[in-house]
Amino acid sequence: METLIQASYFIVAVIFIVGLKQMSSPVTARRGILWAGAAMVLATIVTFLAPQIIDTDQATTNVVLIILAIALGGGYAWWSGKRVAITDMPQMIAMYNGMGGGAAATIAAVELLKATSDASANSTNIATELGSDVAILGILGAIIGTISFSGSIIAWAKLDGRLNRSKLLPAQHLVNALIAIATVGFAISIYFSSVLAPIVVFFALALVLGIFITIPVGGADMPVIISLFNALTGLAVGFEGYVLGNAAMIIAGIVVGSAGSLLTHLMAVAMNRSVSNVFFAGVGTETATSSDTSQGEMKEIQAQDAGILMAFASQVVIIPGYGMAVAQAQHKIWELTQLLDDKGVSVKFAIHPVAGRMPGHMNVLLAEAGVPYDMIYDMEDINADFKTTTVALVIGANDVVNPSAKTDSSSPLYGMPILDAVDSDNVIVIKRGRGTGFSGVENPLFFADNTKMLFGDGQKAANDLIQAVKELS
Ligand code: NDP
Repeated sequence: METLIQASYFIVAVIFIVGLKQMSSPVTARRGILWAGAAMVLATIVTFLAPQIIDTDQATTNVVLIILAIALGGGYAWWSGKRVAITDMPQMIAMYNGMGGGAAATIAAVELLKATSDASANSTNIATELGSDVAILGILGAIIGTISFSGSIIAWAKLDGRLNRSKLLPAQHLVNALIAIATVGFAISIYFSSVLAPIVVFFALALVLGIFITIPVGGADMPVIISLFNALTGLAVGFEGYVLGNAAMIIAGIVVGSAGSLLTHLMAVAMNRSVSNVFFAGVGTETATSSDTSQGEMKEIQAQDAGILMAFASQVVIIPGYGMAVAQAQHKIWELTQLLDDKGVSVKFAIHPVAGRMPGHMNVLLAEAGVPYDMIYDMEDINADFKTTTVALVIGANDVVNPSAKTDSSSPLYGMPILDAVDSDNVIVIKRGRGTGFSGVENPLFFADNTKMLFGDGQKAANDLIQAVKELS
């Protein structure tokens, strides 16, 4: 039976990796998700055969508890997954990621508690009961999983608009450093201990540390921290897999941890940040917010005039952002693109790495609308084109086209590379009003001489543009 279980775990691991590979391209991503889901089902079924579950006096209780957990967790995930709006996906992902970290930390807590009672009965310590390798990895997984749990919950609250601003508390860095040192101190003491108290304090400190690390993280740095927590959750699961001797958990954890680390690195490079800066410095905080509230007047344009400008342009570059997702305007934008294309206008899409609220958010929406991949350009591939662009159409994007990221050292966005829409001959911005973006800072692009604002909901404005272009035929 053991051989069958290990062989199944090996197959699960291979399917996970194949699924992950497929997720790297929008063409195969959906299939990749299905493969990974199938692997997860197989791993879950195999769990029922594990000797730790069925070869004990409590086999029935174990099986009933697992089925209950699957029914509750699976039922809730199915229900919430079906009804979640695509704009709310990032907070759902942050929440699920937190659950993963929390689950890994819970495994560690259970193992540490068991080892504590054995240690006090045998007058030994946790390291002796678990073995030093298991104790060290278990405790490491506990720190990482707990930080990822509480940090992800704060990230969820921010993305869900329940915690709006990043706040740097007085002496935040010192406080964080002290909590981190105390957490590590208690982690070391647990290793040599046989009592409950340090374990409780250790978990409480790690929870607080996750909260304190995430509270100051602001605007442009949220994607980096979310992706970092994702990587940490993977690592914690891998460590706890070692504690339980579960090969599927170890491999899945390492795969998530390494993929997440790579994504974190890419996000940090894209945002021109260092990961440690985001994790420890609390950049992008309210204290750093620039006070540029007005830079003159915004100039309005009507859809009809904007349509004419675009229909007679030689090149239009469309820059989608979070507002396009909110308005679900991608289908209308694709319809508009086809009309312009019929008129001989060269149309391209420019995607900023952190546009929207999750990595690849805009690519997913544009793929859903049927936009061909060869029309979609990454920031570094299109930025030089703006100088020869007749119209940059910004739809629901704000932070990713904010020139203060280049010019205002007091801006929380300072240093983040942006899409250089401002270099185009004309910029048309579709948004509902004067609302700021995720970072909460004003955008001088909206006041620039070559910018005109087309106020309104993204979908309606795109529709109005379609009508305007159609009327020209
Ligand atoms: P922003 O959040 O900067 O701006 C979105 C704009 O859309 C707002 O200014 C809003 O203005 C407008 N908008 C909202 N609803 C509508 C609507 N129905 N129709 C038209 N416009 C609308 O978006 P960006 O994509 O430019 O930037 C993403 C931001 O999110 C970055 O700061 C990034 O760091 C952050 N982030 C990104 C994550 C990722 O992984 N991609 C994860 C977490 C955060 P108005 O209210 O006036 O309409």
